[in-house]
Amino acid sequence: MSYISDVIEQTEAKNPGQPQFMQTVKEVLTSITPAVEQNEELFRKNVLLERIVEPDRQIIFRVPWMDDNGVYHVNRGFRVQFNNAIGPYKGGLRFQKDVTLDTMKFLGFEQTFKNSLTSLPMGGAKGGSDFDPTGKSDAEVMRFCQSFMNELYRHIGPNMDIPAGDMGVGGREIGYLFGQYKKIVGDYENGVLTGKGMSYGGSLIRPEATGFGATYFLNEVLKHEGEDIKGKTFALSGFGNVAWGACLKISELGGKVVTLSGPDGYIYDKDGVSGEKINYMLEMRASNRNKVQDYADKFGCEFFAGQKPWGNVKADIYMPCARQNEIVLEDAEKMLKLGIPVLNEVANMPTTNEAVALLQANGVIVTPSKAVNAGGVATSGLEMSQNSERLSWTKEEVDAKLQGIMKGIHDQICGALDAYGLNYNLVAGANLAGFKKVADAMIAQGIN
Ligand code: GLU
Repeated sequence: MSYISDVIEQTEAKNPGQPQFMQTVKEVLTSITPAVEQNEELFRKNVLLERIVEPDRQIIFRVPWMDDNGVYHVNRGFRVQFNNAIGPYKGGLRFQKDVTLDTMKFLGFEQTFKNSLTSLPMGGAKGGSDFDPTGKSDAEVMRFCQSFMNELYRHIGPNMDIPAGDMGVGGREIGYLFGQYKKIVGDYENGVLTGKGMSYGGSLIRPEATGFGATYFLNEVLKHEGEDIKGKTFALSGFGNVAWGACLKISELGGKVVTLSGPDGYIYDKDGVSGEKINYMLEMRASNRNKVQDYADKFGCEFFAGQKPWGNVKADIYMPCARQNEIVLEDAEKMLKLGIPVLNEVANMPTTNEAVALLQANGVIVTPSKAVNAGGVATSGLEMSQNSERLSWTKEEVDAKLQGIMKGIHDQICGALDAYGLNYNLVAGANLAGFKKVADAMIAQGIN
């Protein structure tokens, strides 16, 4: 048996009931086959693959909090510190009712390679809770965040582990988390969290960064194909922070977004999501209702309850911005019938491995989320630099750096594909490029 399949098998045996984590392990390890074949002896001697799939540590803790009626609830908190070979742990916090250890491990593993691709010195981690923010009051969210930080603070620090937002965790939650951290440790260490408000060390462009970065990356891909965004139609999922940033940049560059989605279904806006409609997405998110139907009610467009746009809506580009595994084999088959040429994966692992394989085999360009959505964490890295240097860059400065980073990621991917004589398979290239730096650092630092 090959080294890679051995490690996949052992990892599967050690992590029963963790399908999402195994999905990303399989994707990454299979993609890096050419690198492993070239260096097998060295990697085996360093138990490199065995170590890379095992998180440095997995922290699980109790989070009790009181609702507005004085009733107590207990949620589960997580921080999976996956790998700090190239820099302190870095990655978001996700508050969503179906968060499990499996979710955290899949995201932490992805984050390790994503952060490496940014070319900034950041290791990989992820955290969060099975707390459901839907319908919670501001005071409830604050009490939850404070209780969450009462445990998390002992595991994080500006040179150790720097969490940020993810689904269910935006500027408001980061504010409450930082306030509690400061209260506990005393020092004003604002470099401990990113995604902060501008009044206490945040970075301009950070809220927009994931969506902007995803659009910049797509632009590089389209340029490679001799095309651009102008005049193209886009089907998006989600309506949160990431989809919002993407809508802003796509409409600025002359593209038209015709769908958004939520847990309740999707909306189809034939005139395009632009102008005040994009601003309304922020209100929808702030309302904590988690219903995209609100958009259809307000702007009088079509709403399809309980459905997803995939395979139902014709567009030039699909951009899933919502959650993992929302595009499955069946959707991929329908997409092929509709003739969708590009799937720009923005959410983490939005497409199952089988669906990606089918699409790629039929000539669809699939961009890998760990590259496409890296603009968010990259801009967090820029926020960290500004915090440690005690300065604040202008919007233009941050945006220019973000664009440079996204282009750099595309260049690195092309470089890795060239080095192994592969064609334009962006998924393989991203994994090969992200892996290389982490592997070199792990080998250089000895077996630990
Ligand atoms: N949650 C985002 C991600 O997955 C941002 C993480 C960060 O800024 O640390 O990349």
